[in-house]
Amino acid sequence: MSDHPALHAAVKAGALVICLYVLDETAGRAPGGAARWWLAQSLRALGAEIIARGGSLILRRGAAAKVISGLARESGARAVYWNVIEQAPHKAVESELEAALAKLGVDSQCFPGDLLAPPSAIRNKEGRGLRVFTPFWRRVLSLGDPPKPLPAPKQLHPAPTIAGDTLESWRLEPAKPDWAGGLHETWTPGEAAAHARLRDFLKHTARSYVGDRDRPDREGTSGLSPHLRFGELSPRQVWHTARFAAAEDPAIGPGIEKFLSELGWREFCRHLLHDHPDLATENLQANFDAFPWKRDKKALAAWQRGATGYPIVDAGLRELWHTGVMHNRVRMVVASFLVKHLLIDWRDGESWFWDTLVDADAGSNPANWQWVAGCGADAAPYFRVFNPTLQGEKFDPDGTYVRRWVPELKELPAKLIHQPWQATPIELASADVTLGKTYPKAIIDHTRGRERALAAYAKIRKGRALL
Ligand code: FAD
Repeated sequence: MSDHPALHAAVKAGALVICLYVLDETAGRAPGGAARWWLAQSLRALGAEIIARGGSLILRRGAAAKVISGLARESGARAVYWNVIEQAPHKAVESELEAALAKLGVDSQCFPGDLLAPPSAIRNKEGRGLRVFTPFWRRVLSLGDPPKPLPAPKQLHPAPTIAGDTLESWRLEPAKPDWAGGLHETWTPGEAAAHARLRDFLKHTARSYVGDRDRPDREGTSGLSPHLRFGELSPRQVWHTARFAAAEDPAIGPGIEKFLSELGWREFCRHLLHDHPDLATENLQANFDAFPWKRDKKALAAWQRGATGYPIVDAGLRELWHTGVMHNRVRMVVASFLVKHLLIDWRDGESWFWDTLVDADAGSNPANWQWVAGCGADAAPYFRVFNPTLQGEKFDPDGTYVRRWVPELKELPAKLIHQPWQATPIELASADVTLGKTYPKAIIDHTRGRERALAAYAKIRKGRALL
């Protein structure tokens, strides 16, 4: 409820306020299973916050423009206020809504809040968005501080009773089977928890962020991505709170600058999506349209289940299934493994993440997948093929992360845990590991996978062009 410019303006206008959430499954990309789970918890928390301030949250389902204008008519509302999302499906809803409200003679006002800077402020000379992160971020920084976040309203004047759906009737949470136990264990969705997590990060983690952010075996990052994804925390709140903390304690300054530049990647991905609404389906580099992807359902299933025989890859995919997130470094490793070692289309991996991530984001997910695959903006070159063993040894040197998520390997010593195939029969036996039985044999040999990937890339290298 804090830093919600539309709500803030509506309350300031001094009128009775009807708080409405519309579940619109007709516009944009339908959320995946894990995101639906988060949405249910988040709405529950929001509803409670609104009740505590004297109001109530009305839930309705359907095409947003119709639902909102219908409620405006039904309630005799004089104005409708909302926050802008600078993405094609939302902008289309917005135009339709504005027209419908104008016909009814109802005032409409929209407010920025989802971004640090609007796409219109970050354009090149030709009026196009920037495709390289460093100049993009430099331009955002040159605009100075974003507007200060707004406080939550203290009191809402109760509006007359308005009928709405029950949250349960939307069936956002899994029932049979209920696979969300790990999500409940890991997360507390909602605004209060988001702010607590930010405070905790600034107090305990920011100091070591530069060194630890790449270490999946440590609590080295903020864990804020799902809160940002669901608008429980705004990027301006993160920006100002973090900068204030750095001013109070200069020792965390370098960590904060790095952390804010990561927030810049979120911004970059959203600007890319603004310019390329088909980011989840179309290669940004058109020569990748001819890439010889393999259709290999068995390998895709092994990857999804975390049964590739590469411990760091399997740990990441199992972490994802259990918690709804995966450490960023490991996201890069598992994504690279899918598109390069297994030659499986990045869109298959992106869809899996879309369904299983609680922070699944329409900009960040496809933009990062395209980045790893080599076909995106400012992308890692395709020929840079991560070696999953070396990545594991470098970023999880003691094997702590693998031991947590791949417990069948936990008795192996650190020097073998990322490459159990190098263990002698005695070493395997003493760790209670039988390759091919208690833990899978590697699905593909690294050197062979790398050569195959480079050969596939050679076929499309000519004609590299960014759309
Ligand atoms: P922190 O390190 O604490 O970073 C702070 C914030 O910066 C994050 O909460 C996030 O909002 C933003 N951020 C950090 N890294 C990135 C990045 N590379 N791209 C965009 N924003 C970033 N992030 C999502 O929020 N949603 C996704 O669907 C998503 N899919 C991804 C898919 C792949 C293949 C890869 C490689 C990365 C993906 N990321 C995605 C980016 C990144 O992995 C997560 O944002 C990060 O792991 C979240 O953890 P954190 O909040 O602790 O990050």
